[in-house]
Amino acid sequence: MGTIGKEIVGMDVNVLVKELNKALADEWLAYYQYWIGAKVAKGPMRGAVVAELVEHANEELEHAGMLVERILQLDGTPVLSPEDWYKVTNCGYEAPSDSKVKTLLEQNIKGEQCAIDVYQKLSTMVKDKDPITYQMVLEILADEVEHEEDLEALLEDMQLM
Ligand code: FE
Ligand code: FE
Ligand code: MG
Repeated sequence: MGTIGKEIVGMDVNVLVKELNKALADEWLAYYQYWIGAKVAKGPMRGAVVAELVEHANEELEHAGMLVERILQLDGTPVLSPEDWYKVTNCGYEAPSDSKVKTLLEQNIKGEQCAIDVYQKLSTMVKDKDPITYQMVLEILADEVEHEEDLEALLEDMQLM
């Protein structure tokens, strides 16, 4: 990356890249959990739930793209093998083996709550140290907060049926 661009990062870049790679693994696992969940979903309000899951899948993939771009700007190496996703993930993966929409919503809400926690901690870590990463993290955090709310609203609607 640019000499000064890297100099203005007021923290250990290796530590930062490691955290960004953990978040990258989370995003890929979240992407697949949503994407495959949307395919197998069964039960009440399937149409509405599937539309939301697909939308979230696409947004998780966008987050993955943002993280990779920042890692590369910092001269880091993004996670290159899917087998490493499991080794570095913060939030893990919950297979949609019970494909009832209610179960899928509950699993994905748990994932979003973990993601909110991850980006909240990351924002505290980079605040006043790396304005570029900070801005990116806030953008992703806002999406994760919206994701949690969307899924909780669907679950609530389902419980009112
Ligand atoms: Fe995300
Ligand atoms: Fe999300
Ligand atoms: Mg949404």
